[in-house]
Amino acid sequence: MNNSTALPISIRGLTKKYGDLNALNSVDLEIKSSEFLTLLGPSGSGKTTLLMAIAGFNRPDAGSIKFGDAEMVLTPPHKRDVGMVFQSYALFPHMTVSENIGFPLKLRGLAAKEVMGRVDEALATVQLSGLGDRAIDQLSGGQRQRVALARAFVFRPRILLMDEPLSALDKKLREHMQIELKQIHRQLGVTTVYVTHDQREALTMSDRIAVINHGELAQVDTPEAIYNRPKDQFVADFIGESTMLSLTRGGDGRLSFGSEIISSSSPNPSVSKWSLVVRPERLHLLEGDVNTSEKQVVFRGHVKEYVFQGETAFALIALDDVTILSVRFGTGAGSRIQLLEPGALVSVGLMREDIILIPQEGQT
Ligand code: ADP
Ligand code: MG
Repeated sequence: MNNSTALPISIRGLTKKYGDLNALNSVDLEIKSSEFLTLLGPSGSGKTTLLMAIAGFNRPDAGSIKFGDAEMVLTPPHKRDVGMVFQSYALFPHMTVSENIGFPLKLRGLAAKEVMGRVDEALATVQLSGLGDRAIDQLSGGQRQRVALARAFVFRPRILLMDEPLSALDKKLREHMQIELKQIHRQLGVTTVYVTHDQREALTMSDRIAVINHGELAQVDTPEAIYNRPKDQFVADFIGESTMLSLTRGGDGRLSFGSEIISSSSPNPSVSKWSLVVRPERLHLLEGDVNTSEKQVVFRGHVKEYVFQGETAFALIALDDVTILSVRFGTGAGSRIQLLEPGALVSVGLMREDIILIPQEGQT
């Protein structure tokens, strides 16, 4: 659903310093109306600083933040009309569920009847109908987080900001809430900026992901593009598992690993050093003698370690003395995992469509 009051956010040259530290270094980011955009990065990368700048709780040193056409940098938080959810629920413990959710409406002077109607609507959206009279301490962690969410959107903000809202929940509940939040977002259609350090959560929930590192955006893209076409080593490392193989470039521009030609030309001639990023699940076990072809690159090596993990199995394959490929396989009947005896010589194939090349660190 598209929400007619949802607004795009346009961030230009946003810089925030703490002493000598550039917590945000000239960040440019365009967030579309009704989009679910996730800021993903390691601890200390600047996620909260950026979110707080959007909310108006910190004042940037330079740059612009627009909601629609309106410049917000000097607008105080309570006039920005954004809903916020934090990791700690920050609910009022002495109020009931309904009183908590109705609080922002009361603050805005809505009549009691209107408040009741909207609170009931919000309770239904977060699937807490009938629990309005409960005390906060009678709720589970997941239910509390839903109350915090309902309180953040009940006044129909144009923008919803969430800072690691699920990180206090256990894994099962967190995964359940990820899907639920996504559905609620679709229902509300509100422009949403979501913060997490959990790459899987970001891939699960987002329309687009903005990967942030040391206060700079490394890549902004759809989950598929971030995973399948990471731009640099940081993104390739941070999202998903991968092995990086260092390639050599021939005089003709060819990129090779050992005797296997990975690419007939370098994607960007001005970059001399390239790595091949290999995702463990993109490799497949081959039986018999199969050579590198137009369709796939074949790696040969010895099985060093084999671990059965249920739905998948995991193997480390030594290609030479220093290079170890990490490989993930399905464990079903056709999976050929019987080949993975420790010490066995095996061949694994990588389809050419699955080749990911990135410039080596320090190269652009
Ligand atoms: P994240 O949310 O990604 O973990 P933050 O945005 O909280 O990161 O912090 C980014 C960097 O700015 C970190 O190095 C952090 O230590 C620093 N920082 C954040 N807030 C302050 C502050 N109020 N004073 C000084 N340094 C801060
Ligand atoms: Mg943070």
